[in-house]
Amino acid sequence: MSRLHQRAIVIGAGMGGLSSAGALSPYFEEIIVLDRDTLPSSAASRAGTPQDRHPHGLLAGGLQALNALLPGFERALADAGAVPINGFREIQFERPDVGPLPRRDCGTTILSASRPLIEAVLRQRVAALANVTLQSDCRVTELVADGGRPSARFVSGDGAVSTIEADLVIDASGRGALTLALLDKLGLPRPAETAVGVDISYTTALLPWPAGESRDWELAATHADPPALTTAAILMPTGEGRCLVTLSEHHASTRPQTWDEMLAALRRVKTQTIYNAVRHLPPLEGLRHFVLDESCWRHFERLERLPDGVLPIADSLCRFNPIYGQGMTVAALQAKLLRDSLGRLAGEADPIAALQRQFMTEVGPLLLAPWGMGVNADFAYPGTRGERPERYDESRQFEAALFRAVVADPVVQTAFSDVIQLVKPFELLQSPDIQRRIEAHAQPPADRIQASAG
Ligand SMILES: Cc1cc2nc3c(=O)[nH]c(=O)nc-3n(C[C@H](O)[C@H](O)[C@H](O)COP(=O)(O)OP(=O)(O)OC[C@H]3O[C@@H](n4cnc5c(N)ncnc54)[C@H](O)[C@@H]3O)c2cc1C
Repeated sequence: MSRLHQRAIVIGAGMGGLSSAGALSPYFEEIIVLDRDTLPSSAASRAGTPQDRHPHGLLAGGLQALNALLPGFERALADAGAVPINGFREIQFERPDVGPLPRRDCGTTILSASRPLIEAVLRQRVAALANVTLQSDCRVTELVADGGRPSARFVSGDGAVSTIEADLVIDASGRGALTLALLDKLGLPRPAETAVGVDISYTTALLPWPAGESRDWELAATHADPPALTTAAILMPTGEGRCLVTLSEHHASTRPQTWDEMLAALRRVKTQTIYNAVRHLPPLEGLRHFVLDESCWRHFERLERLPDGVLPIADSLCRFNPIYGQGMTVAALQAKLLRDSLGRLAGEADPIAALQRQFMTEVGPLLLAPWGMGVNADFAYPGTRGERPERYDESRQFEAALFRAVVADPVVQTAFSDVIQLVKPFELLQSPDIQRRIEAHAQPPADRIQASAG
């Protein structure tokens, strides 16, 4: 097949970069993916993704998107040892307001695995594409776009400096720093940023999978109960008889340093489900910590002009609070949008400029729902910094009614499951049928009894 464009460069072989390479493959003769790390040949943690020792839930929407971009990805991830988990039948999802959500089969299955395993399977699928080259040990230092084709300058492991030109440069380096520096150099304005200060701290332990007849779930998540209780916990399997247990805390002042301190902290979350599952288990390595101060949306989509041929994607564009498990899935959905946009360029006089325009027009709506769901939940914590979303109180009331309805009504639970798994759009929860079902639970049960008695 003859392809439309000559060469694309992708900076970063993380989730956004790899899935973008999959999206570009049908449309470019050659795709070069540059990463500063030595990319491992198997599932291994690496310096360029320090978050990878912490749990990484790939939502059903992300799994579907990656499978659409790289057919066979889902099968390969399952074959590599990821654990299939039915939502919500096998998920213990504990809320402070309504307790554990009913364990109904809502028709979605996720694959639970460590971040290095998910990335390794994706990397293998991408490396198998004939027109994609993954280049390790190449740290991109600068982007150049001075009217001609854009290029990336990079330093290889041996210290050699090279420059490659391309039709398109995707900045999937995680921070957008290269694109921002290029805007500065060109004298173009930087994008406005919406930042929400969450100071989310993670403490994670790798454990053997807790065997036990009394446990009837495969994944457990115990929510915090803000404003008073700001810690939450999650336990998820990573395959090979192991699991990760994480304690997360908004605006933490201290964090556990030893396994005993971690157990004590797990005991203080809203329920003792996870504590009871792990308290007799020996950690397989030392505790790992991570702190993320803010989620940040750099509004490249609002810029009048992007540098010619340069497109920031995934965390470079929008970094989410990780506790909602959205980042990898949204990266994969953006890559899918990239592929769809490439498919609509026929007849464009300047196809790359049209691609930038189309992608940026549609990426805002794509980011809005996952961003909004996370930020609304973040503002329940008193220390959260930033601008409260519009109609915040209304959306909190909606959320309270939603969870009461989720418990009472299987139809609402399935819709909720599809929305938080980013399989279906948020508007599903506002469709007339679901809205009517949620409104039936607008008041807490005691108020409903009083209202009907009065
Ligand atoms: C603690 C934590 C937990 C998380 N949990 C989840 C979760 O449960 N579910 C979920 O979906 N998401 C989660 N995320 C978010 C997820 O990690 C990111 O959203 C996702 O990795 C974004 O992909 P990316 O490609 O933009 O960045 P990354 O995957 O971070 O990749 C960036 C890549 O760019 C490379 N790079 C950087 N600079 C250069 C350069 N100058 N030259 C060459 N290469 C460069 C890096 O080496 C790296 O490989 C979590 C994040 C954190 C911090």
